Amino acid sequence: MTASTKIWRNWSRTAVATPAHRLAPRDESEVSRAVRLARERGLPVRTVGGGHSFTPAAVTDGVLLSLDHLSGIESVEPTADGALVTVGAGIRLGALNAALFARGWAMENLGDIDKQSLAGAVSTGTHGTGARFGGLPTQVAGLRVVGADGEVRAVTHGDELFEAGRLSLGAVGVVTAMTLRVVPAYSLLAREEPWDLTDALSSLEGPDGWWETEDHVDLYWFPHTRRAMVKRNTRVPLGEGPRMSRARRWVDDELLSNGVFEGVNRLAAVAPRVVPSVNQVSARGLSARTYAAPSADVFVTPRRVVFREMEYAVPREDLRGVLDELSGWLTRSREPVPFPVEVRCARADDVWLSTAHGRASAYVAVHQYHRMRHARYFAAAEAIFREAGGRPHWGKMHSLGRAELAGLYPRFSDFLRVRAGADPDGVFRNPYTDKVFGPI
Ligand SMILES: Cc1cc2nc3c(=O)[nH]c(=O)nc-3n(C[C@H](O)[C@H](O)[C@H](O)COP(=O)(O)OP(=O)(O)OC[C@H]3O[C@@H](n4cnc5c(N)ncnc54)[C@H](O)[C@@H]3O)c2cc1C
Repeated sequence: MTASTKIWRNWSRTAVATPAHRLAPRDESEVSRAVRLARERGLPVRTVGGGHSFTPAAVTDGVLLSLDHLSGIESVEPTADGALVTVGAGIRLGALNAALFARGWAMENLGDIDKQSLAGAVSTGTHGTGARFGGLPTQVAGLRVVGADGEVRAVTHGDELFEAGRLSLGAVGVVTAMTLRVVPAYSLLAREEPWDLTDALSSLEGPDGWWETEDHVDLYWFPHTRRAMVKRNTRVPLGEGPRMSRARRWVDDELLSNGVFEGVNRLAAVAPRVVPSVNQVSARGLSARTYAAPSADVFVTPRRVVFREMEYAVPREDLRGVLDELSGWLTRSREPVPFPVEVRCARADDVWLSTAHGRASAYVAVHQYHRMRHARYFAAAEAIFREAGGRPHWGKMHSLGRAELAGLYPRFSDFLRVRAGADPDGVFRNPYTDKVFGPI
């Protein structure tokens, strides 16, 4: 087991921890040993993945475990329509995507970065977009979990520890391995075009709307304008479709989306009044592109400009009203927001704490550059999201506590019951889990 004593910070610099011990177990038995030892000494245990949550979910002053060494593919079992792949839960999504691709497989759907660990992404309900697709927890078929007693349990559909454990913020144990349902590798044909916001929103809805006819739709609306960038990805056989040159990709994804965008945000931070004009210029400068590439290369984009984010899932039919309210507030308040608002969707699922539990959902994400104030903007957005019965992303900023969250999830009390049984002494608790789930 490797140990370090360094201070831990998350990617967005919104959470910091000084754990008594930072450990990186080399295998599952070392995870068990670490949990048993911590328990004997009365220390809490939290596990951290890529540190890409915006909340203090992983913070502890006790033992902070990193599962970076538990990152190998353990087995691949072909099925009728894909494969069941068992993998160490600490693997980063980027490494997972590469390992799957090398074997001819791919994740059914992904979010827009790949720096997270698999367990961290699943444990917070990370999702991509697509009305026929669910978030990452829906792609999990089994878990191995080290419990508060240090014992390893393998669980699958129907086991209550599985239902609770596949989206738990690490509150029922340390997930050491996951079995994923994967699909044959595929390409995405990406069409990215600037749109008028009203036209784009109208095109999303209805039986012939993009939500129904396209595989994956992502919309970025530039606040203070009526312009949006719409990304529509169609699943095509591997290798089909036009390629994009590396140079064009670098210009678009690195230079414009990161290098120039960092400059725009720095300008916004020192001269917030210019933001509406700058957004107009940025939105007018949007250009269309069409290209195809293996799925992970299209889903994933580099994100180097540091920001803060809040994202809520709202019933899909309420999206239009929510965006109208948000637009109205931005106009009235003149709040300077250089970052686009992102809109995605997911099918209804049955994961107990999934933000899409039992309902087809639209996701609305608000972002703010890390050197600019976010509190007023996020509070206003949150009030609008909550009015629509929205559920906050478990890895992103929000202000809700146990009482409010309990009212949003029909299986919340089941989750709390399983958690209490799995961790009766609160080994896996921290102040953040106390806030969202209540103390043990
Ligand atoms: C730039 C950026 C882009 C993002 N894009 C998306 C997106 O497209 N879609 C989306 O839905 N979200 C997105 N997110 C949010 C992100 O996917 C989640 O916050 C995710 O949890 C981060 O994974 P991580 O490995 O960094 O987890 P961490 O932040 O390290 O941990 C998250 C939680 O998981 C727990 N955990 C970690 N490992 C384990 C384990 N082995 N066992 C038990 N519990 C564990 C931790 O204790 C903590 O509670 C984005 C975040 C950033 C910063």
